[in-house]
Amino acid sequence: MAGIYIHIPFCRKACNYCNFHFSTNHQLMNQMVDAIVHEIEIQQNYLTEPVETLYLGGGTPSLLNRDQLRMIVEAVKKHFTLVAHAEITLEANPDDIHSQLLLDWVALGINRLSIGIQSFRNEDLQWMGRAHNADQALACIGMAQAAGIENISIDLIYGGPSLSNADWIKNLEIAINSGVPHLSCYALTVEPKTALAHQINKQQLPNIDTAHQAAHFTILQEMTTAAGFEQYEISNFSIPGKRSKHNSNYWSGQHYLGIGPAAHSFNGQSRQWNISNNALYIQSIAQSLVPFEIEYLTVVQQTNEYIMTALRTQEGIDANRLNTIAGKAIYTELLNDAAHYIQDGLLVQNQEQLSLSPAGKFMADGIAAHLFREEETV
Ligand code: SF4
Repeated sequence: MAGIYIHIPFCRKACNYCNFHFSTNHQLMNQMVDAIVHEIEIQQNYLTEPVETLYLGGGTPSLLNRDQLRMIVEAVKKHFTLVAHAEITLEANPDDIHSQLLLDWVALGINRLSIGIQSFRNEDLQWMGRAHNADQALACIGMAQAAGIENISIDLIYGGPSLSNADWIKNLEIAINSGVPHLSCYALTVEPKTALAHQINKQQLPNIDTAHQAAHFTILQEMTTAAGFEQYEISNFSIPGKRSKHNSNYWSGQHYLGIGPAAHSFNGQSRQWNISNNALYIQSIAQSLVPFEIEYLTVVQQTNEYIMTALRTQEGIDANRLNTIAGKAIYTELLNDAAHYIQDGLLVQNQEQLSLSPAGKFMADGIAAHLFREEETV
């Protein structure tokens, strides 16, 4: 089954670590919603399968008012076959969440929230440049639950300069005790050209300490396991049955359509991405032209994408699936390249699956890169 992602490219404030596409100028908000609705119509034939998941992300989609959100959700329902009980997720920031808005969201069919909490401590939220405070971070979860939304995911960031091990344990205790069934926990990364990169260059903030992050990652694995969460992807933890269907579909190679500026789409053979410029996106859509670039994936690229995404999941690389994508039996070759990681306890071979051990999960990207195939090997 397929998924649809809608990118809402506006935020209240620029978080200092963020390199997503967004603007803090909201003047084009109404025109953007009209353009997104129009793109939904233009792209109605991109997916041939029924749509199982709709994900409103960004940016900050919780900045949209009820009517703007309704226009978008109704356009998707009009132009695509959304299955009954589809997972409809809205990314929301704590400072936007209030009781009436939550009821509006429920009435629109939104049945899952992904809340950008990042930390329950003001000290962290301040250097991150977040628009909310610790009280709002705590209160919004209870408000969402009281409105009847049980399927809630919380985003948290670990390994930052002001977060000690004890602080991280406390953040995780609050998250786990809140009763949410899903956590997305990311190590702080320094993306080029962000305010964070600038602050580190100017020595206003210390650089990333990977040993500190590794300690937080171990704490995260231990505490979530003890609380009954499964680490079904490197950064994602869920109570059984509460995985994100939308993201799981990405990682299993299902097709998806991205709508809005900077949104990516994938149909099995090609990947395309819309222009990352709000004004140019709106102008182009007004002429019924979707402004995108496209890349046709070679077999090697498809194989390496599968290695990279599958290795991040609990299930790991499946021999049959790998061989099917590559068009020939390469699993044995892959095992040869993986031998020293298996010996070092970073990879685990279980019959026809190759997956990361708990220790290996902290080095996923580096291990995947060593397993990538080159043109002549596939
Ligand atoms: S709210 Fe989210 S998308 Fe917006 S700047 Fe902050 S991290 Fe980036």
